Amino acid sequence: MRKIIFILWAVFSFSLTSMAQKVPTPLSHFGFNIGDNYHLATFTQTEAYLQKVAASSKKVKLQVIGKTEEGRNHYMMIVSDPSNLAQLSKYKSIAQKLARAEGLTNEEAKKLANEGKAVVWIDGGLHATEVVGIHQWIESLYQIITREDEETKRILKSTIILFVHANPDGQELVSNWYMQPKDTLKRTTNNLPRLYQKYIGHDNNRDFFMMNMSESRNMSRQQYIEWMPQILYNHHQTGPPGTVVAGPPYRDPFNYVYDPLLVTGIDALGAAMSSRLNAESKPGYTMKGGSVYSTWWNGGLRTTAYYHNIIGLLTEIIGNPTPSTIPLVPQRLIPNSATPFPITPQKWFFKNSIDYSISLNYAVLNYAARYKDELLYNIYTMGRHSIEAGSKDAWTLSPKKVEMLNEVIASNKKMIKADSLPNPNFESIYKQASLRDPRGYIIPLNQSTTAISFINILINSGIRVEKATANFSVNGKNYLAGSYIVKTNQAFRPHVLDMFEPQDHPNDFLYPGGPPVRPYDAAGWTPAFTMGIQFDRLLDDFTGPFETLAYGEIQKPTGKINNSELNTYGYSFATKDNASFIAVNELLKEGAIVTKNKEQFYVSYSDTFKDFSTFKEIVSKISNEQGVIFTSVTDKNSIAKEIVKPLRIALWDKYGGSISAGWVRWIFEQFHFPYKIVYPKEIDAANLNASYDVLVFVEGAIPALTPEAASPYEEREPKTEEIPAEFHSMLGNISAKKSIPALENFLQQGGKIITIGSSANLAYHLKLPVKNALVEVVNGKEKSLPGEKYYIPGSVMQITLDPNYQANWGMQQNADVYFNASPVFNILPDAIAQRQVIPLAWYASASTLRSGWAFGQSYLKDGVAAFEAKVGKGQLFVFGPEITFRGQTQGTYKLLFNQLYK
Ligand SMILES: [Zn+2]
Repeated sequence: MRKIIFILWAVFSFSLTSMAQKVPTPLSHFGFNIGDNYHLATFTQTEAYLQKVAASSKKVKLQVIGKTEEGRNHYMMIVSDPSNLAQLSKYKSIAQKLARAEGLTNEEAKKLANEGKAVVWIDGGLHATEVVGIHQWIESLYQIITREDEETKRILKSTIILFVHANPDGQELVSNWYMQPKDTLKRTTNNLPRLYQKYIGHDNNRDFFMMNMSESRNMSRQQYIEWMPQILYNHHQTGPPGTVVAGPPYRDPFNYVYDPLLVTGIDALGAAMSSRLNAESKPGYTMKGGSVYSTWWNGGLRTTAYYHNIIGLLTEIIGNPTPSTIPLVPQRLIPNSATPFPITPQKWFFKNSIDYSISLNYAVLNYAARYKDELLYNIYTMGRHSIEAGSKDAWTLSPKKVEMLNEVIASNKKMIKADSLPNPNFESIYKQASLRDPRGYIIPLNQSTTAISFINILINSGIRVEKATANFSVNGKNYLAGSYIVKTNQAFRPHVLDMFEPQDHPNDFLYPGGPPVRPYDAAGWTPAFTMGIQFDRLLDDFTGPFETLAYGEIQKPTGKINNSELNTYGYSFATKDNASFIAVNELLKEGAIVTKNKEQFYVSYSDTFKDFSTFKEIVSKISNEQGVIFTSVTDKNSIAKEIVKPLRIALWDKYGGSISAGWVRWIFEQFHFPYKIVYPKEIDAANLNASYDVLVFVEGAIPALTPEAASPYEEREPKTEEIPAEFHSMLGNISAKKSIPALENFLQQGGKIITIGSSANLAYHLKLPVKNALVEVVNGKEKSLPGEKYYIPGSVMQITLDPNYQANWGMQQNADVYFNASPVFNILPDAIAQRQVIPLAWYASASTLRSGWAFGQSYLKDGVAAFEAKVGKGQLFVFGPEITFRGQTQGTYKLLFNQLYK
C-alpha cells in the first residue's frame, strides 16, 4: 500500500512539475492540430491558449496592446530568449534610438546595432476569412518556443519577435461561423452575415495612416512609437490561381519618397523567403510581376511601414480547412524570374499552407538573426538620410519632374549635350528653388478642429511634432501661439511628405497607347487635402518659440465660450467646423432650439432647460469635450431664423455588410447622428415615409441601369436556405422592379434621399434630366470613354462649389474630393433654368487633379460633381465623389451632414 502511495505521489508530483514547465501543444488545448482538416480555432480558445503559453514558457511575454472595436483584448506576444526578455526595455530603447536616428554618430549607431536585437513583427488574422493567417500564427508561436534546433536557438538569441494578433473580433466571428454545421462538408467561411471588423471589414487594411479604428491605432502605436521593428511580416490570403503563395519583391511602381535601402531590403528578404521554399522543395512561390501587389500606396499595415523605413512583407497564400485543389493554369507552369519553381495541379490541404507559412516565417527570422546588426544599422542609415535631406535643400524626383525635364530638353533651342556637366537642362528643373522639398509645415491655430485630427494622425504614426509656445512669424506671416509645426528633418520624413504633398503617380500603361494598369489600391490620398485643413509649406529652414511634443502625445482641441461673462440670448458656433455637428446633435437631443445661417449655428436659451445655468453648463460641457468654440449672442436680432430639426435617418446596408456603409455608420456614431440600418426587403415593403425622413445610399447600393455597366466585383448573395433564419431579413438587393418604385414614391411623398458614388444610378433610374458626362459618340452611339483616353483611379480632385447654396453651407468655394472612377454628370440646361436640378459642385477647369493619377482629366471640365433634384415633394441629393471615403475625407463630410436636418 505504502509503495502504491509512493508511486502515485511520484507520478503526481512529476506531472505537476512537467506541467508547470511544458508548453501545452495546440492539440492538447484546442482538441485538434492546427492545420487539421475542417477545424478552426476561435478567438476565445486562442486567448485561453495564449494565457496558458504565457504561464508555462519563459520565452514569452504576453501584452494587451488595447481593446478592439467590439471590446475584446488585443494581444501581442513578445517572444525571445529569456535572457533578452529580462532586458526588454533596453532592447526596445535601442530599437527606438536607431529608428529615430536622432543625435547619434555613426560610431554610436554601430555600437548600438551590435548590442541590440533585431525586432521582427509577425501578425496573423487581419483579414479574418483568410484563415491561414491566424492559424499559422498560433502554430509558429508554438514551434518557435518549443523547438530545440540550432536555428531556433539562434533566432531566439538574436531577435525579439512581436507576434501580433491583427483582428481578434474577426477570428471569433469567422471560426464560429465555420464550425457551426455538424456536417464537416457543410462548413464554409463564405456567406458571413456581417463584416469581420465591426465597421469596415476588409478595409481594416486600408486604415493605417488614418487609424480611425482602435485595432489600427493599437498596432501603429507598437510599430511607430514603441518598437519600430526593422521587419514587419503581414500575412494574407490568397495566392493567384496556379500558385501557392505571392510574396516579395513586388511589382512597380514603388513610391519615390522611399529610401533605396528600403527597396533593396525588401528584395533581400524576398530572396530569403523564396530560396527557403525552393531549398525545402516547396514549389509555387510567385513574386514581382507574378502578382498584383505593388509598394506605391500608403495605408496598409504593410505599406505604411515603408514610409517609416520598415521592411514590410506581405504574403498571400492559398489554403482552407476544407481541402482544395491547385488548378491547372498552363501559363503558370513555365519557370521564370517571377515564379522560379512552379507547382503542378494537385490536392491541397490546410496543413500544407501552415507548413509553408512556418517555412516563410523561419526564413524571415533566420535572416533577421543572421543579419541583425545590418538590419539595425540600416534602419538608422535610412533615418539619418531622411534627417539629412530634411536639413538642407533637397529635390525629390517624381514622374511629373521627368515630364518637365523632357519638355525643357525639347524646347531648349541651344543644343546641350546630354553628357555635359553641369547640365543646364537638368539644373533648370532639378535645382529650381521653387521645386525643393519643404523643410517643414506650419498648421495655424485658428482653424477648425479637423486640424487637430490631422495632427493626431501624425502623432499616432510616430511623427515628431512641435507646438508654438508664443506668437511668432515666418516669412512675414504671423502665427498664433498653439500653432503646430512639422519639420521634415526627421527619420520618418517619407511619411511626413506623404501626408502633406500630392502623390505623383506615373502614367502606368500596359504598353504605349494601351490600357492603364490598375493601381493595387489608391493612386493619390494626401490627407492634408482630403481633410481640408489649412497649412503652409516652408521651403527654407525656420525657427521660432517651438516646443517638441513627446512622441505619441495625442492633442485635444480646446473649446471655449467667447464673451461668456455677458448677458446672452444664446450662443453661436461655426458651420465650417465638423465638430459643430456634434454640438448640434447633442443640443437637439436636449430639445434645444437650434437655427443656422451660412456662417453660424445658433442655440437659443429656451424653457426646455431648467434654468439658464443648466443651459450654460450643457453648452460648456460640449465645448470642453468637442473643442467647439461658442460665442455669446447679445443681440437677439442677430440670431438666424432657419430652424434646424433632426430627421429620422436610415442607412442602406446589405447581407454580409457593405464596407462603404460601415464607414458611414462609424462616421454617424463619431458625429452623434442617430440612425437606423435599412435592408432592401424593408425598402421594397413600401410606406418608407412612415418610418424615415432621409435615406442614405453609399457606393454599390443602387445597381446600374444595364447589367453590362454593373461592377465586376459584385458578390453572389447566398440562397435563403443556406443561412440561419435570424439573418433572412438582411437578404435581398435593390432592384429596378421593386425598390426603385418604392424609392420614387418615398421622394414623391416628401422624403429625402442622398446617394454617394455609384448609387448616383438612382438619378438614371428615375429618368431625371441628367446624363453621364464621360461618354463619346462612336458611330452615332454613346459609349463610355475607354481607358486609353480617360482613367482616374482613386485620386484627389478639386471641385468648385457655390458656398451660398444651403446644401453647401460651411464649405469654401473649392474643396478637395476623393474621386474613385466616380460618376460625373451633364445636366440639361432647361432643368437648371427651371430649378428642377441644381448643380452643387462641378469640375471648373481642365486640370483639377490635386493628388494621384488622372489620365485624360480634361474630360472632367464643366462636368457636374454633385447636384440636388426635386422629385415630387421630395429631394434627391447626388454626390459623385466619395465624400465619406474611409473616414478620411473630413473636408467633405459637411456635404452629407448638411442634408441630414429638416
Ligand atoms: Zn487580405
